[in-house]
Amino acid sequence: MITYDLRGKTALVTGGASGIGLATAELLAASGCRVAINHLPGDPRGPEQVARLRGLGRDVIAAPGDVGDAADCPRMVERAIADLGRLDYLVNNAGTPGTRTLIRPDEFDRLTEELWTTVLQVNLLGVFRCTKAAAAALRAARGAVVNVASIAGLDSPGSSMAYGATKAGVISLTKNLARGLAPEVRVNAVAPGAVDSSWMVEWTEERRRASAEKALLKRRCRPEDLAEVMVFLLAGAGMVTGQTVVVDGGLTLESR
Ligand code: NAD
Repeated sequence: MITYDLRGKTALVTGGASGIGLATAELLAASGCRVAINHLPGDPRGPEQVARLRGLGRDVIAAPGDVGDAADCPRMVERAIADLGRLDYLVNNAGTPGTRTLIRPDEFDRLTEELWTTVLQVNLLGVFRCTKAAAAALRAARGAVVNVASIAGLDSPGSSMAYGATKAGVISLTKNLARGLAPEVRVNAVAPGAVDSSWMVEWTEERRRASAEKALLKRRCRPEDLAEVMVFLLAGAGMVTGQTVVVDGGLTLESR
């Protein structure tokens, strides 16, 4: 694994209390970066993870706020930047499938406006809002952004319709943010396949194994696999911008 010396750098990770966001916050903090961990207000995992990481000697702070809320999101970002003193890295990771069971294209009749609104607010508008609120600080620091999209945004068959549309939007927004914030700020995205996070808690071991078997690399993707690529895109990858890196063990390659 590539290691970075990120002492003196700061980061804000949205949806950082679990899964991919937590793994990324942990890797950044272990590299010496000061990290603000955003979590939904009232989610006990936020303060718990901050306390745990502080116990390991990491320099982390909590940044409660709902990225799906037009007023709360910029307030949270501005507060986090004030607490951190500067902002080098923004990780737009918070995301939701909207429902516990995916609504696939052949279940179109079940798709409601309410679901669209929830998923759009968090997955797509949340990325726009956080980046807008952070843009001036990121420019001043000549920083970088990484957005978490999904293979569902790359015409992945069988994925949820509204969720896939928001993640396709994140991939498009990543390109245009890269254009809009250049030359000071680089903006990239990752598109994970099936990741062993809380989204899989209801999966049986058999279903997890079957999902892993579909990928060329024959193993499940861990949040740490994403964190490694995301920290590379933030702290390394100095000539990369506007790109989406697929991190799925070859799942999409195999099914094409
Ligand atoms: P996760 O549920 O562990 O992480 C999502 C985090 O976002 C949670 O901590 C949740 O509380 C937080 N969150 C949700 N809505 C929020 C809001 N409005 N404001 C602030 N925080 C909010 O699952 P994960 O797999 O780590 O998901 C992280 C990202 O990865 C998401 O954007 C998801 O769409 C994407 N992704 C996941 C998978 C997968 O298979 N797990 C695949 C492709 C993409």
